[in-house]
Amino acid sequence: MTTGPRLVIVGRQGSGKGTQAAMLAEHFGIHHLSTGKIFRDSAAAGVPAGLEAKAFMDRGELVPDDIVVAVVEERFTNPREIERGFILDGFPRTMAQAIELHSILESAPIDFVIDLSVPKEEVVQRLLERGREDDTENGIERRLELYEQETAPLLDFYRARGLLQTVNGVGEPADIQRKLIELVEQRVDRLRATV
Ligand code: AMP
Repeated sequence: MTTGPRLVIVGRQGSGKGTQAAMLAEHFGIHHLSTGKIFRDSAAAGVPAGLEAKAFMDRGELVPDDIVVAVVEERFTNPREIERGFILDGFPRTMAQAIELHSILESAPIDFVIDLSVPKEEVVQRLLERGREDDTENGIERRLELYEQETAPLLDFYRARGLLQTVNGVGEPADIQRKLIELVEQRVDRLRATV
């Protein structure tokens, strides 16, 4: 059985994690799972769960854990999706979600977590320039606050398990891309070699 890398990418909004996750997915032929994108697409299609999620997103709040976990669980009902490898982008964002993820994946746990690190001041600037529908000043501020409260503790959780790899997310996207590819190649080779 060939298995692709099983990755998580974490970072403040505006860190570039969506762009880098899409690039890694394409490079390694793995599944890119962005919970934010799933919600935006299903809201645009008028799906009730998507519209419900959008109400939270527009306020800069997190979508409740049960809704998010159900979406991820559904994507992983097919074991092939796990075997093929994946990069989770924007999930988990809370400790409760990290624990759920662990049980969803059971025998095929994640290989490691990329922390794409960009300072707060820099992401605020980037988000204001990006101007997505939910990128209002209040929304940005609230999302960054929730990142510190709910998501930053995950970094310690994964670091304590030897699963955290911090990458500096400031610089040319192409350079960061190169660094990330190298990191995944090295780390996954090393992990698979010890199995
Ligand atoms: P993103 O596309 O990752 O920037 O996510 C956009 C928005 O979707 C976030 O600000 C949250 O409101 C919501 N969202 C995405 N993923 C999650 C998650 N794992 N937990 C809670 N809310 C989420």
